[in-house]
Amino acid sequence: MADAVLSLNVGSSSIKFALYGVGSTDALEVIAAGKIEGIGSSPHFIARDGSGRILVERRWENAAGGHELLLDELLTWIDKTAGAERLLGIGHRVVHGGAGFAAPVRITERAVAALSAFIPLAPLHQPHNLAAIQAATALRPGVPQVACFDTAYHQTQPPVATRFGIPRALSDEGIRRYGFHGLSYEYVARALARLDPSMASGRVIAAHLGNGASLCAMAGGRSIDTTMGFTALDGLVMGTRCGAIDPGVILYLEQAKGMRAEEVQQLLYEDSGLLGVSGVSSDMRDLLASPAESARQAVELFVYRIAREAGALVSSLAGLDGLVFTAGIGENSPAIRALVCERLAWLGLEIDAQANAAGAATISTANSRVTVRIIPTDEERMIAMHTLDIITPHRARTA
Ligand code: ADP
Repeated sequence: MADAVLSLNVGSSSIKFALYGVGSTDALEVIAAGKIEGIGSSPHFIARDGSGRILVERRWENAAGGHELLLDELLTWIDKTAGAERLLGIGHRVVHGGAGFAAPVRITERAVAALSAFIPLAPLHQPHNLAAIQAATALRPGVPQVACFDTAYHQTQPPVATRFGIPRALSDEGIRRYGFHGLSYEYVARALARLDPSMASGRVIAAHLGNGASLCAMAGGRSIDTTMGFTALDGLVMGTRCGAIDPGVILYLEQAKGMRAEEVQQLLYEDSGLLGVSGVSSDMRDLLASPAESARQAVELFVYRIAREAGALVSSLAGLDGLVFTAGIGENSPAIRALVCERLAWLGLEIDAQANAAGAATISTANSRVTVRIIPTDEERMIAMHTLDIITPHRARTA
């Protein structure tokens, strides 16, 4: 069995993971990938090998403990699958790295303490990311662990793109735009450089459309602007998050409606977005299948805001050569891709209906002034690559 590296992406009710073998060629081969979902209710664990064959599937009928217990189950299963002595390291997705963490870091107690300061900036994700780091460190104290940040890829943005129009002292304190989904965008940028170097060297908007959703403006593969800001609440309308909103609404909710900060947080992060607008579901598949007018309006708003924000990023880039769709909705929904592209037709962007329906790698026509591609993202692989770079810096490898 080859040496292995484990990527962990831990959320409020799920643990996503991927275990890679680090072969003699230093390519990363999937040994097993999967998730434990439904943590806190009835957890379901499934793992597949690199060809998609199910290696293990298990359900627990009751809550069966929280994250730590289930992480223990996962690590024990991985020890059996990979051989405990072969686990070189564990890489963790950490949503917020603030201004200080511009690149992945080896985990130390000091790093965890510094990262805890960002919990209020990413309340849906950061506490779970850090709890997983602490649990994995306790369960496998001998295995080096690395934190990889969703904010880091955006550190190349010019200061003007990250500044808010607020008093300078607050900006200096770190109240600025950071941007998220960086591991996904970094993976997409690298994949694009391999698949289409000419497009990668130009002006590209990458659209990460999943439960969380954002756009990133890339110039020559580097982030120059993005729709998420200080927190992952800004920008597009998402599954349950509101996206960009007049800050006056928040003042109104607190002052006129007497809502407490925690209630506003719950409203904006968990009860808004597609779920709030439709009253039906946060899941795009449900909305596309629903006959409800409110579901149609939620989809319409989702698409409208993508096109509007894309227009802003075209201005940041001073033009557009390519558009990339990625993540759950971007990779799997021809309907949403078609609606977004229709609204962006003014850019000379034209999609091939058949290629779009088939989910082809390139979905624009030969005449389109903007090349439109689908690139499946792989945040777990990006985490594994960073983790190996940190723990075995002498290795040179291919993705
Ligand atoms: P997360 O942000 O949790 O990683 P994903 O990237 O997995 O989310 O995206 C989840 C979203 O993708 C959900 O809204 C889901 O409905 C949507 N999705 C997945 N498959 C399809 C599909 N075939 N058509 C439309 N939406 C889809």
